[in-house]
Amino acid sequence: MILIKTDEEIEIQRESSLLVGKTLAEVAKHIRPGIKTIELDCIAEAFIRDNGATPSFKGYNGFPASLCISVNEQVVHGIPGNYELKEGDIVSIDCGAYKNGFHGDSAYTFGVGEISEEAKQLLKRTKESLYKGIEKAVAGNRIGDIGHAIQTYVEEFGYSVVRDLVGHGIGRSMHEAPQVPNYGRRGVGPKLTEGMVLAIEPMINLGTRTVIQERDGWTVRTADRKISAHFEHDVAIRKGKPDILSSFKWVEEIDPTNE
Ligand code: MG
Ligand code: MG
Repeated sequence: MILIKTDEEIEIQRESSLLVGKTLAEVAKHIRPGIKTIELDCIAEAFIRDNGATPSFKGYNGFPASLCISVNEQVVHGIPGNYELKEGDIVSIDCGAYKNGFHGDSAYTFGVGEISEEAKQLLKRTKESLYKGIEKAVAGNRIGDIGHAIQTYVEEFGYSVVRDLVGHGIGRSMHEAPQVPNYGRRGVGPKLTEGMVLAIEPMINLGTRTVIQERDGWTVRTADRKISAHFEHDVAIRKGKPDILSSFKWVEEIDPTNE
């Protein structure tokens, strides 16, 4: 069942989503060669708690951390640890915060120091694909319109769309109906109506779309070990124009690879 939120609920949820955006920026300030991913996780957890919220991911199905940190060929759900970021890495940071009964969930992929032109393009185009999908997230459209827009945009560059993981409804629970695939056909799937809130999150691979799960039970990586990027926003469905609840505003002020 797809839960519909009132305007009041959406405003409460916006606060959680914006807090995630601010947390990502707090983390971004510390992304540099030599920092351990667990250190970034500590920064995020402290910031979330200082703002009166709790990290949505910590303890979720037993996940041990506040952030999912996925480096290079890792797609999503990487566990923060002793890995030290190095020059040329790309690092996807996925963050969730829970406050006043609602979750926010947003992700951004950063370059560490100077990254390859190929990586830069993948990040830029994956972010662009998120906004292509969001454009379709308006009342009257269908879920398939979102995925179709993302897929057609990135496949033009020879990239592939991860199929095994998808976006989702979000609200009082972090994962609600409907599923929001990043691929699909126009005019297919549940109809979008006012008051739905969706987490739209393209995971785009440089090579094959096939992914495998690491033995840690969480980390998902590309089968061919080529790099992958991930960007995510929470979007409320309205008539005429999408309402993005999360924000990259603070992150983009810091991210040097952002143009
Ligand atoms: Mg997320
Ligand atoms: Mg999500």
